[in-house]
Amino acid sequence: MKEYEEIKELVKKSGSILIAGHIMPDGDCISSVLSAGVGFERLGKKVLMIVDDEIPWYYYEFPDVARIRTADALPDFDYDLIVVLDASTPDRVGRVQKVLGTKTTVVMDHHGTNTMFGDVNLVIPTIGSTAQLVFMLNKKLGVHYDPLLATYNFMGIATDTGFFRYSNADLKVFEDAAELVGFGARPNDISNAILENRLPEELKLFADVVANMKLECDGMLAYSYVSREMFEKYGLPDHSASGFVSELRAMKGVEVAILFTERSDGSIHASMRSKKMFDLREVAVRFGGGGHPQAAGFSVKGRTLSQVIDEVIPYVVKQLKKAAARGGLL
Ligand code: AMP
Ligand code: MN
Ligand code: MN
Repeated sequence: MKEYEEIKELVKKSGSILIAGHIMPDGDCISSVLSAGVGFERLGKKVLMIVDDEIPWYYYEFPDVARIRTADALPDFDYDLIVVLDASTPDRVGRVQKVLGTKTTVVMDHHGTNTMFGDVNLVIPTIGSTAQLVFMLNKKLGVHYDPLLATYNFMGIATDTGFFRYSNADLKVFEDAAELVGFGARPNDISNAILENRLPEELKLFADVVANMKLECDGMLAYSYVSREMFEKYGLPDHSASGFVSELRAMKGVEVAILFTERSDGSIHASMRSKKMFDLREVAVRFGGGGHPQAAGFSVKGRTLSQVIDEVIPYVVKQLKKAAARGGLL
């Protein structure tokens, strides 16, 4: 694709590069930022890696995560190029949004809902993870891969495919993952850090989420919530609820699962997952967010948890009934 060549030339001619991932960072975001950051450094570039949000504590098991900064670090860094990773809209980069376009801006992403807000946009919705786009770019640039960089790069492929279980786990995912294992990536380090690291309080919070769970549409829709009070009961941060929605989807008969969380900034975030027959993107975009057919989300400001639930659930019920009536697999 011509975008790869354009981005390769832009990186080559830039001395210092600002790399930004998205707020509410997930494994693909962190993996992509680290892989681009460490990769470009190996070409002699100066880099600043930014994720303008709190990074879940367990990612700090990977040493370079401690080098990722918030947008507070922006004023002290001069750069020739901006590379935005895994973010579908400009608001997803937090306060980095203010500097987008002040220098040539590259967007690399795999969300079908991407608004193409860069000067160069490498957006491939059929690829499992943004980390794979970074892997391809790094290879084209001649970046040297050792076990550490390979592990960082593997992480996004693993997390965005639900550790190779979701429908996006295709041949290319397995090929890229295998190539990275060939470079020394350690998949077990990643699953240990991310999957085998739950705090007792997180399990207790999850028990409360299950206790609050409601089913609609003959059990096809499962939803629940985490209020401020619930987070505070266990002294847990916002991101501690991030894996719960997949557990709701995992129930037999459930097609769509939604978890509403009341975040510390007062916004309400809806995390949505579907199994097969329901494309979540329309719902996500309708409420101001985005995502993938089977994993999407949105955040709403200025409304209470129950107001958002009361607005979203009837709409999803209606759309889900329509989809079921169509008998429709995607
Ligand atoms: P989450 O449920 O927050 O983990 O997000 C699931 C998917 O939806 C991910 O692919 C996110 O990138 C995407 N997503 C979540 N929130 C938003 C948002 N506010 N705007 C655009 N995409 C979002
Ligand atoms: Mn992401
Ligand atoms: Mn992703």
